[in-house]
Amino acid sequence: GPARHVTARVAPIGPRLVLALVEDRTRERRIEEVRRDFVANVSHELKTPVGAIRLLAEAVHDAADDPEAVQRFADRMLTESDRLTHLVQQVIELSRLQGDEPVESPDPLDIEHIIGVAIDTSSIDADAKAIQVVAETEPGLAVLGSEEQVTAAVANLVANAVAYSEPSSKVLVRARSVEGFVEISVVDQGIGIPSDEIDRIFERFYRVDPARHRSTGGTGLGLSIVKHVAATHGGDVRVWSVEGQGSTFTLSLPQHQHRTLDEAPPAPVD
Ligand code: ADP
Repeated sequence: GPARHVTARVAPIGPRLVLALVEDRTRERRIEEVRRDFVANVSHELKTPVGAIRLLAEAVHDAADDPEAVQRFADRMLTESDRLTHLVQQVIELSRLQGDEPVESPDPLDIEHIIGVAIDTSSIDADAKAIQVVAETEPGLAVLGSEEQVTAAVANLVANAVAYSEPSSKVLVRARSVEGFVEISVVDQGIGIPSDEIDRIFERFYRVDPARHRSTGGTGLGLSIVKHVAATHGGDVRVWSVEGQGSTFTLSLPQHQHRTLDEAPPAPVD
C-alpha cells in the first residue's frame, strides 16, 4: 500500500534529506502559488484601464456631435492607454527578473550617467509639480551589471520620490562609495510611509492606501522591480521613512573598481 512505499523511500535517505525534500516541495508549492497570484493580479489590474478605455470609446461614439466632449474623452483615453502601456512594460520587466539570476555578461556602468538618465525620465512629472531633482554623486563610481535594469531601478525610485511629494519640494539623488558598495540614495520630503506598512511596500501590486494617491496612476510594481534588480546584482535596497516628512530609499550595489592598467595603484591606507 502507499504507507509501505513511503517508508521504503524515507528510511534509507535519513531524516535530514527528508526534511530537505519536504522543504523543497514546500518551496515549489510556494513558487507556484506566487505565480498563480501574480497572473490573477495582473489580469485584475489590466481590467481597470481596459474597462475605462471601453467606456470612453462608447462615450466618444455617443458624443459625436459635441466636439468639446469628444476632445475630453479622447484625452482621457490617451491617459488610460498610457497607464496600460506602463503596466504592461512593468509586468514584462518583472517577469524577466523573477528568477533573480545574476546578470549574464554584465557591463561596467557609470553611475553618474545612469542617475542622469533616471532623472531625465521623470523630468516631465517633476517639472509639472515644480519639483527640483538634484544629483550629488562622487565621481568615478561604477558597478557591474545590466544598464537597462539598473537604470530602471533608479528611475523607479526617482519617479516615486516625485510622485509622492508635494509640489515645489526637493528630491536629492546621492551616490557614494561605502565599504565596497555603491550606495544610491533617493531622498524626498514627501508624504512618507506609515511604519506599519513599510514592510509590505516591496511586495508586488502593494500600494499604501491606493485611494490616497489614485492620481499618481502607479501600478504597485515599481519597488518589486527595484528589489529584484538589487537581487540580480548582488545588492539590496533599504528604506527609511517618517510619515509626513519624507522617505529615503537606498539601493546598494557591489562597487566595480575600473582602474585601467596605466593608472597608479591606490596609495596605501594606514
Ligand atoms: P507604485 O506604482 O504604486 O508607486 P511601487 O511598488 O513603486 O508602486 O510603490 C509601492 C507603494 O509604496 C506606493 O504605492 C506608495 O504607497 C509607497 N511608496 C513608494 N515610494 C514612496 C515614496 N518615495 N514616498 C512615499 N510612499 C512611497
